[in-house]
Amino acid sequence: MLKGRNAVVTGSTSGIGLGIARALAAQGCGIMLNGFGDGIEDLRAGLAQEFGVTVLYNGADLSKAEECASLIEDAEKRLGSVDILVNNAGIQHVDAVENFPVARWDAVIAINLSSAFHTIRTALPGMKARGWGRLINVASVHGLVASVNKAAYVAAKHGIIGLTKVVALENAENGITCNAICPGWVLTPLVQKQIDARAEAQGVSIADAGRDLLSEKQPSKRFTTPEELGELAVFLSSKAAGNMTGTSLTMDGGWTAQ
Ligand code: NAD
Repeated sequence: MLKGRNAVVTGSTSGIGLGIARALAAQGCGIMLNGFGDGIEDLRAGLAQEFGVTVLYNGADLSKAEECASLIEDAEKRLGSVDILVNNAGIQHVDAVENFPVARWDAVIAINLSSAFHTIRTALPGMKARGWGRLINVASVHGLVASVNKAAYVAAKHGIIGLTKVVALENAENGITCNAICPGWVLTPLVQKQIDARAEAQGVSIADAGRDLLSEKQPSKRFTTPEELGELAVFLSSKAAGNMTGTSLTMDGGWTAQ
């Protein structure tokens, strides 16, 4: 379905971003991976072989404006175009506002919010010239509602939903859509850290801490999967979603229905 299209997926060496990159590759899309970690070359080569598509890697640090721009420029040069841009890279820090380290606030805002501004502003001219583009921002339920101790994350995620709406309006007649995805709990390294911290603080097992975390907020009492989010990104990239723009789609097991 996406043969001939190319996508940049930020933060795609792990978790949700990897799930989205896999789902787009399965549709025949060329992929630029980004993110940190071990075994990235094996991951890149494995995806390319499994799906028979071009898969490249750029290790841009998205806390830096100039590296966000160079990620897009590199993808345009080496893949030939950036037709789909998924802004997914993100980090978390959990602390009450008065204890929140200023450097962590700055890092969360830079990576979870400002990076999307920089990648979008760099990718838009090419998308406009081709008259087609799909911008998909991975926000969160925390772009719609708040939780305690997540000031920077909630501020960044509310911010990215605002950015999504502005970009959608500015490009409504350009063949370019811009939408946000709002997952509830997904079992990735980002959430595993929170489960581990909870288990330690409450003196319970990791399995019990995971169950507690889900039952507190997510009525389905199961994690959303990276594969499910990947299919949502494929749908947003499809022809059927061509007139869907500026919206925020939850996949949260009912979290925000409460
Ligand atoms: P993860 O920790 O598994 O993956 C994060 C990815 O971002 C990794 O590839 C990491 O290398 C990359 N990354 C981190 N800092 C970076 C930087 N400075 N530059 C480039 N890449 C960087 O996390 P995840 O849970 O898959 O989260 C992905 C996105 O989904 C985030 O935006 C997160 O806020 C959002 N989200 C996650 C959940 C959840 O429950 N896991 C829920 C809602 C939203």
